[in-house]
Amino acid sequence: MPLTPFHVLPVWPLYVRWPKRWDLLALSFGCVMSDLEVITVYPIVGTWEAGRGIMHSLLGVFTVNLVLAVVAARYLAPWLAVRLDRRFPGKGWRKFAGHDVVTDRKAWTVTIGSAILGGLTHLGLDLFMHYDTPLFWPWRAVPISALPLEIALNPAWNVGIELVAGAVFFWMLWRWVGK
Ligand SMILES: [Zn+2]
Repeated sequence: MPLTPFHVLPVWPLYVRWPKRWDLLALSFGCVMSDLEVITVYPIVGTWEAGRGIMHSLLGVFTVNLVLAVVAARYLAPWLAVRLDRRFPGKGWRKFAGHDVVTDRKAWTVTIGSAILGGLTHLGLDLFMHYDTPLFWPWRAVPISALPLEIALNPAWNVGIELVAGAVFFWMLWRWVGK
């Protein structure tokens, strides 16, 4: 991690700044998708680090993660937003920074590009938060990290980042989500 939802930090501003060029839902699902393996594998193997494999690799970002993120962005999320909006109207289920995300359909190339970019930002951030990110999975002879081990494993670094990211995240939520 950062905490999974904080991964939207680098991608949401892209959509707010260039709403025609990016697909909000594909960016959003793309940037969190990697951690799906953490919540599904972790309970079985019993360690967070061991839970990071193909979905935290470049191979995954262009294959498994891409398919899952595109399906979630194109079908699942719009379907859910429409339902919720009908059931509890006026709560902004379909709104993000002045756009209706259900009607804001993009070309396939934009959706796919957004999902891939989201995935790459996930790996990029994780490089600064873990002592090992399996970028080249299944090949992983040496740990890959952007940080020296002492920093990557230092709780002060990790907690500090989470606090800063958390503050920005909640600001973005308040500013854009449902508005
Ligand atoms: Zn991750």
